[in-house]
Amino acid sequence: MAVLELRPAGLYCPAGDFYIDPWRPVDRAVLTHAHADHARRGHGHYLAQRDALGVLRTRLGPVAIDAVGYGEATVVGQARVSLHPAGHVLGSAQVRVEVGGEVWVVTGDYKLDPDPTCTPFEPVRAHVLITESTFGLPIYRWAPPVRLFAEIDEWWRGNAALGRPSIVYAYAFGKAQRILAGVDASIGPIVCHGAVELLNRCYRDAGVALPPTQVAGGPARNADRAALAQALVVAPPSAQSTPWLRRFPEAGDAFASGWMQVRGARRRRSVDRGFVMSDHADWPGLLRAIEASGASRVYATHGYAAALARYLCGRGLDARTFDTGEFDAQYGGEQEEPALPQDALAAAGPAAATAGLDGPSADA
Ligand SMILES: [Zn+2]
Ligand SMILES: [Zn+2]
Repeated sequence: MAVLELRPAGLYCPAGDFYIDPWRPVDRAVLTHAHADHARRGHGHYLAQRDALGVLRTRLGPVAIDAVGYGEATVVGQARVSLHPAGHVLGSAQVRVEVGGEVWVVTGDYKLDPDPTCTPFEPVRAHVLITESTFGLPIYRWAPPVRLFAEIDEWWRGNAALGRPSIVYAYAFGKAQRILAGVDASIGPIVCHGAVELLNRCYRDAGVALPPTQVAGGPARNADRAALAQALVVAPPSAQSTPWLRRFPEAGDAFASGWMQVRGARRRRSVDRGFVMSDHADWPGLLRAIEASGASRVYATHGYAAALARYLCGRGLDARTFDTGEFDAQYGGEQEEPALPQDALAAAGPAAATAGLDGPSADA
């Protein structure tokens, strides 16, 4: 019997009778992280990493969640389960499952690039590795973060010199906080959309240092206008072309996403600038993580799974894809934005409640 197998509700462990990131309601769910396409409502019991708790509580409400630290082993039925840093977002984890001496590791979403807002990725040795492959093509290669943030700072400084705000669209959970932690906060004030600020709170509660932020809600007061002209504004993509933007007239705008590496992506988003920034491993990162696992069998899932599996087979590995066809048809594949409950948004302020609900999006 395999340690993990694909069932209609998701990835299942028969020895422990639990699922990992299931997409249909199940009794027992082990979560890799709190993004919406991994952490769904409706499960009986949840197991997740401790740092993910704040975001999960915000999204799922008062459900039964067992929170564990990285590397802490739990026995579930006949399986030994532990969570290990994935470097993707706050509280993101790879799931290590050991049954009768055989070790399978599910990476969930991960990246190897340094990111001060979450615990760095740690390779975990495995017999079988199930890896994400969102950016599993050789064209995807991320620049070092210092270069990326220097680019963002330069753009922000340039706009501020012209007396116009800089709006950067980024996913509210993960990418937005990475921008906050990475930019030079001395350039000007930082203003966040309510949906972003809601997640900022979870990060600060978990002990992650972020620069001071203001929330843009209600009509901008005249006294704030001079400061707003120097501001960096961090907003979720769903805020684009909403009335919320009227408080930042003449603003320069940009989109931060791994897809910005592809020609034409910036134009399709109709923004001035595209910053190539992803929460996922690029091609060299995927290969490095797979090699470090020591796994002889690899399953690729999400994105360019077939391309990655083909490449790995050529390198002598037993590599396959997981057929997530039903999942992709139902949920549109990779969705990176948590759908926040309306009540939580209302608590975060009027800006969040009016423009904060982010629909699922095929972005990363
Ligand atoms: Zn994710
Ligand atoms: Zn994902």
